[in-house]
Amino acid sequence: MNTKYIFVTGGVVSSLGKGIISASIGKLLQARGYKVTIQKFDPYINIDPGTLNPYEHGECYVTADGMETDLDLGHYERFTGIHTSRHNSVTTGRIYKAVIDRERHGDYLGKTIQVVPHITDEIKRRMLRIDEGKENFDFVITEVGGTIGDIESAPFMEAIRQLRWQLGHDAVCVHLTYVPYLKAADELKTKPTQHSVKELQGMGIQPDILVLRTERHLDDSMRLKVASFCNVDLECVVQSEDMPSIYEVPVSMQRQGLDAAILRKIGIPVGETPAMKPWHDFLEKQRNATREVHIGLVGKYDLQDAYKSIRESLNLAGIYNGVKAKLHFVNSEEVTADNVEEKLKGLAGIIVCPGFGQRGIEGKIIAAEYTRTHDIPTFGICLGMQMMVIEFARNVLGYKDANSSEMDGETAHNVIDMMEEQKTITQMGGTMRLGAYECELLQGSRAYAAYGGKALISERHRHRYEFNNAYKSEYETAGMKCVGINPTADLVEIVEIPEKKWYIGAQFHPEYSSTVLHPHPLFMDFVKACVNH
Ligand code: GLN
Repeated sequence: MNTKYIFVTGGVVSSLGKGIISASIGKLLQARGYKVTIQKFDPYINIDPGTLNPYEHGECYVTADGMETDLDLGHYERFTGIHTSRHNSVTTGRIYKAVIDRERHGDYLGKTIQVVPHITDEIKRRMLRIDEGKENFDFVITEVGGTIGDIESAPFMEAIRQLRWQLGHDAVCVHLTYVPYLKAADELKTKPTQHSVKELQGMGIQPDILVLRTERHLDDSMRLKVASFCNVDLECVVQSEDMPSIYEVPVSMQRQGLDAAILRKIGIPVGETPAMKPWHDFLEKQRNATREVHIGLVGKYDLQDAYKSIRESLNLAGIYNGVKAKLHFVNSEEVTADNVEEKLKGLAGIIVCPGFGQRGIEGKIIAAEYTRTHDIPTFGICLGMQMMVIEFARNVLGYKDANSSEMDGETAHNVIDMMEEQKTITQMGGTMRLGAYECELLQGSRAYAAYGGKALISERHRHRYEFNNAYKSEYETAGMKCVGINPTADLVEIVEIPEKKWYIGAQFHPEYSSTVLHPHPLFMDFVKACVNH
């Protein structure tokens, strides 16, 4: 079959959960046996979100092939279990850069380069995934960031308009809008949706399917009203009510026939509704996991989205351990030696979070010392692992000035140091050690057991600094073992203190590869230790 294209746009307001809807559509089509990929087009000019502060754009998600991307790709992977790649995240910046590079190369042969057709053509090429050739997808789902009417997303909309025209039945447009509830009037209001669809129509795009985000149930008369005012079939108006968990959304969409509506629009026989047994089993586990285990996230970003994948990984690992992981943000900037006990009170374990720069690191070090000396399960991720290593140097090895050369270029005891190949790099964007690298696990270690006795694993990275091998033997003698090593570069990827209940630091980001049906083994083992603690 020809590849089919599904475009997902959003209207009225942002933060409606377009990423969840896109991921759900992907999941439902995958369950029907189709080969699916989901990609995100963002209207901002940064080449990728790698240089963005998490306060601007939440977590930066890293693909196995080493692209720093939008956090929605995390939802795509967690829902479908399908790896995304550098092709799945496109920004206006990348589009313009490709066009301008080509112009400088002389490829346009004297032509005036314009938004239409040159920028829109480049957008279309990427929406169609022309460059990949070999990978043949049944469905390519393209989510466009931002809200209809934004000036910056106009070229994306024009590209979608053209593709709709070009592809005919091979393309469908799904538009997500908001239906607010007015308390004083005790009414749900569809007017913003009508306006949003008008705006789309004004750009020459007639949506095929409307997904209405709502906090209250919409009855059939409401749906009929929207259908008739927006030129959409009644069966193509579905609602996305608030759910106790985002993982209920695919099931709710399937119940309302969203995937069937898409197939009908495209002209593919709908066939039987897939049972999605593993997914339902997971939801069942989720509903039963009510006993709470309290876990602290020691970090500096007081923002839900900043540690999105870590939160979801803990949440999933909790469910598979039969518990509800209650996460508590502990602002590391506020942690001191005097208040650490109070700050970590009642927590069954902590995550020492990843990050960059000086701000809040001393609090992470103090927290790591407290949990080490009180034998509280501790999981350090990337910068978090580095802070565990520094803490150990200061308080066990006796190097009071131990630090990372990221924070203190002058320290005599740079137990965390810049990687050799990073020293000549001057450009900031996309130049870290990024993406999946192999790691050999030491037999008999806690990490080895957590991974179920696998000798070789592969995990995703995003960092410039590294455990300094000059100190390795000192650490090992004093009780902190280097149990995961990258075999080609001899870099330390995992440290642990075997005599503690669970004290492990990973230089990589396991949170990027935890999925709904396959929770990550380290998170599984960590949460288990928290439960036992
Ligand atoms: N800032 C640290 C480094 O570059 C850690 C990065 C991170 O936590 N992702 O090595």
